[in-house]
Amino acid sequence: MALGEFDLIARHFTRPVRRSPLGVGDDCALIAPAAGMQLAVSSDMLVEGRHFLSTVAPERLGHKALAVNLSDLAACGARPLAYTLALSLPRADEAWLAALASGLHALADRHDIELVGGDTTAGPLNLCITVFGEVPAGDALLRSGARAGDDLWISHPATPDEPGWLGEARLMLEIFRGTPGVRTEGLDLDRLRLAMECPQPRVALGLALRGVARSAIDVSDGLLGDLGHVLRRSGGLGARIEAAALPRSAAILRQHEALQLECLLAGGDDYELLFSADPTDRDTVSALAARAGCGVTRIGTLGAAGTPLEVVDADGRPLATAWASFDHFLSR
Ligand code: ADP
Ligand code: MG
Repeated sequence: MALGEFDLIARHFTRPVRRSPLGVGDDCALIAPAAGMQLAVSSDMLVEGRHFLSTVAPERLGHKALAVNLSDLAACGARPLAYTLALSLPRADEAWLAALASGLHALADRHDIELVGGDTTAGPLNLCITVFGEVPAGDALLRSGARAGDDLWISHPATPDEPGWLGEARLMLEIFRGTPGVRTEGLDLDRLRLAMECPQPRVALGLALRGVARSAIDVSDGLLGDLGHVLRRSGGLGARIEAAALPRSAAILRQHEALQLECLLAGGDDYELLFSADPTDRDTVSALAARAGCGVTRIGTLGAAGTPLEVVDADGRPLATAWASFDHFLSR
C-alpha cells in the first residue's frame, strides 16, 4: 500500500521528545537551551550523485547525513540538542525509509540529539539536516582564535584497528572511481567504505576542548583548504605542517607517496577536528582526547601573519603544495 506524506512522517520520523518542549506535529518545534547558553546552528545538505553514490545503504546514508552536521557542532564545542530533517524523495519506499530512519535514530540516540521537525516532499533524493546545539555564551570554539606559535592538532580514531583515519574516505572514493595507481591488494575495502560512509563526529572531543583549543574547524573539504579558512579568519597567519607527522593508517601507507599526501591533505569527508592550542597545553590536550575516546596528533605549528602555509619534509624542506580543497563549483 502506498504511503502518504503524513503517514510516512508519523511512521518513520516522529519520536517522543525528551528535552525539547515540542517536537514533530505542529507548525514549529520548540527548543529550550539552558539559561546562559547560546544556540549553535548549522545545516548541511546531502545530494545524490554529489555527496553520496546511489548504491549507498540507506542506514549509512541516514548516519552520514546526521554525522556531518554533528561534526559542525563538534567543531564549535557545542552540545547537541535537536535537529530537523528536510527530505526530498523520488518515491516513498517503505523498507528504504525504515532503514534510513534506523541509521539516523541510532546515531541521534548515541549523541542524545532529538528529531523535532522537518519537511517532506517528492523530488530528487536530497537530505538537508539542521542541527541545534548549545554552548555557554562566549565559549564556542571558533575558526578565528588561532595565534602564531600555536600547535596544530588533528583528531583520529583511538586505535589503528578502528576505521575512519584521515584520508581514508578519499582513498575509497578513488577506488570507486578506478583511479590508476591506487593499490587495492590487501586492503580491507569494507573498512574503507565505512570510513567514507560512516564518519564518526568528534562531539565529545569538541566539548572537551572548550577553554583549551584556541581555534577549531572540522575537516570536510580537505585539511589544507580547511586550515586555510582558520588562518584567514585568524588574521592571515601562516602554518608549517610536517608531512612525516601526519597520522597515516595502514591503508594509506600502502599507497604511493603522492597519493598519500593527496588523501591526507586534500581528501575531504574526514570529519576530524583540526584545532590549535598553546604548546604549554600539550599534555592537557592529549589527556582530554583520551578521555573523549579518540586520538590526537600534533602535525605542525602556526606562523606569524604573512608567513606561508607550507608542508615540509623530514629535513624541513617545503614540498610543492598543489593540493586544492573541494569546491562545489570549481572541483570536478
Ligand atoms: P507545515 O506545512 O506547517 O510546514 P508539514 O505539513 O510540512 O508542516 O509537516 C508536518 C509536521 O511534520 C511538522 O511538525 C514538520 O516539522 C514535521 N515533518 C515534516 N517532515 C518531516 C521529516 N522528514 N522529519 C521530521 N519531521 C518532519
Ligand atoms: Mg511543510
